[in-house]
Amino acid sequence: MAFTLPALPYAYDALEPHIDTLTMQIHHGKHHQAYVDNLNKALAGTDGENKSIEEIMANISSYPMAVRNNGGGHYNHSLFWSVMGPNAGGAPTGELADAINSAFGSYDALVEKMSTAGVTRFGSGWSWLLVKDGKLEVTSTPNQDNPLMDIAEVKGTPILGIDVWEHAYYLHYQNRRPDYLKAIWNVINWDAVSARYKAAL
Ligand code: MN
Repeated sequence: MAFTLPALPYAYDALEPHIDTLTMQIHHGKHHQAYVDNLNKALAGTDGENKSIEEIMANISSYPMAVRNNGGGHYNHSLFWSVMGPNAGGAPTGELADAINSAFGSYDALVEKMSTAGVTRFGSGWSWLLVKDGKLEVTSTPNQDNPLMDIAEVKGTPILGIDVWEHAYYLHYQNRRPDYLKAIWNVINWDAVSARYKAAL
């Protein structure tokens, strides 16, 4: 059973002006599609064809590098699209807000920590908010790795991921990764992150 590109749950221009339309079209339609196609190629004729993406991530050390890179790319981008949206941003509320305050002190402190993790990730990678042993943590990963992978430095269930590859921001922000990491908080869908938080507990 082949993996497929999930439909974007909003229009390509829905995240303007923070994330521009052309970036979204290329990022979803070309980059994510390529991860899906290359993952299917790498798994063709192997047991991995019958596994869920989460099962593959949890056992990634036993797969070839093409599965790690493209399977990670597929998982990470599927999560990324789902935690953004139009009319979003602001600060989280409820249980998730309490957990953020308890883990980091405040919402602003979380933003600072995740932005720093993204800015200081050399080259390409991701900044993550994850649940580990029932508690929230922030980490970053190189390339298309993620906290679900058995090889991850910090393992857990990711509930928010921010793509810091240049392809995620270069057309609009050029070399200014910190500006992209300031703007992205305007399009984070905290209802979606809260749902992932509850599911991860
Ligand atoms: Mn990307």
